[in-house]
Amino acid sequence: MTRQEDLSVHEALELILARVEILKAEDVPLLGALGRILAEPVVAGDSLPPFANSSMDGYALRAADVVAAERDAPVGLRVVGDIAAGSSPTLTVVPGTAARIMTGAPIPLGADAVVPVEDTDEPWRGADRPLPDRIAIQRAVKPGDFVRYPGEDVRAGEVVLEAGHLIRPQEIGLLASLGVARVPVVRQPRVGILATGDELVEVEASLTPGKIRNSNGYAQAAQVRALGGTDVMLGVAADSESDVRQKLDAAVDSGVDLLVSSAGVSVGAYDVVKAVLDRAGDVTFWRVRMRPGKPLIFGAYRGVPYLGMPGNPVSAMVSFEIFARPAILKLGGHSRLERPSVKAVLMEQIHSDGRESYIRAIVEKDEDGYIARTTGGQGSHMMTSLVRANALLVVPEGITEMAAGTTLTALMIDWSGGYF
Ligand code: AMP
Ligand code: MG
Repeated sequence: MTRQEDLSVHEALELILARVEILKAEDVPLLGALGRILAEPVVAGDSLPPFANSSMDGYALRAADVVAAERDAPVGLRVVGDIAAGSSPTLTVVPGTAARIMTGAPIPLGADAVVPVEDTDEPWRGADRPLPDRIAIQRAVKPGDFVRYPGEDVRAGEVVLEAGHLIRPQEIGLLASLGVARVPVVRQPRVGILATGDELVEVEASLTPGKIRNSNGYAQAAQVRALGGTDVMLGVAADSESDVRQKLDAAVDSGVDLLVSSAGVSVGAYDVVKAVLDRAGDVTFWRVRMRPGKPLIFGAYRGVPYLGMPGNPVSAMVSFEIFARPAILKLGGHSRLERPSVKAVLMEQIHSDGRESYIRAIVEKDEDGYIARTTGGQGSHMMTSLVRANALLVVPEGITEMAAGTTLTALMIDWSGGYF
């Protein structure tokens, strides 16, 4: 089914997302799971902590022995042993005794609390410090003080992470403590990237009359990588149906989950991408009411979802941002498909042509909230204004002018402020 009329951005995105399915699971080594989506729930095989242990360097004792202890009236206890982290104590703390203990070492039998070394008369530095015979305890503790109990954080048998969870460094740490060496995650999308156009030469080439370098292929491959996908560079196809088909066939045969191309989708005499899809694939829609980037084609080629972006570099990148990015995230199992957005106050007047417009801008925080300034020329061939931008300001459909002082939505394409 091809939609004849031009679609809104929202309608187009809905159609795209309806056609992409979350990919299958694969097992990867623990660190390889960073940035990926968990495909199955993780059930804890162990409790965390696995055993009762001390949260301080100090003395394990019986709280009842030191109820009256204070700095000016310490309580003396006999020291019956020394428990290092990693050891498994066999001693028992009976009334009137204490055992020196390190942070993370198991609480010995009989003890129910720990007094930090700072609250004794024997502050020590280093393991070479000899074990004292007696220790003066200068504070009272309650049973359980400075003890970390087994299962306090995680209980063996419980689901610690649900399927669909994003693996960040803290999840890696948790999985490591649970002994999960291989993690079931959603497979990374493989995205074929094709540039089309007789005017295109490779990055290494010097320019000759009429030629430009294929920048879209690299920019889009980088966009794929930034999302954790795998880019499959298909190079440059000439403006001929047979060349485009040959490159697409090779990509499909190698197993890609999505095809993204740039250029060749408008109404020029050499715009072959639409012809290829009309003939050898299917077209779900063509053209979206947005700026930059009205000619955008979506369909499938030999069963693989196909997004044909406009050729102008900014149109190609912004269309990717709005349509390919959520599709790739969905393939990879992500549930959060939108960029963070903020409400920002416009510092200058801007114009649009009534299509939903994405204006390159820099958004900053001032005392009252966020403010937005455009980053320069908004021509769809002007990459430097995109390079300077950290946001795309969304001018809604039907609006042709926005005055300074207007509040609008800013999609934060770079939320980090340049910090990684
Ligand atoms: P088209 O959609 O083929 O009419 O292309 C629109 C504009 O984008 C033209 O100025 C092309 O030269 C330019 N263009 C197309 N493909 C690329 C590419 N891969 N890298 C940089 N510019 C391109
Ligand atoms: Mg062209």
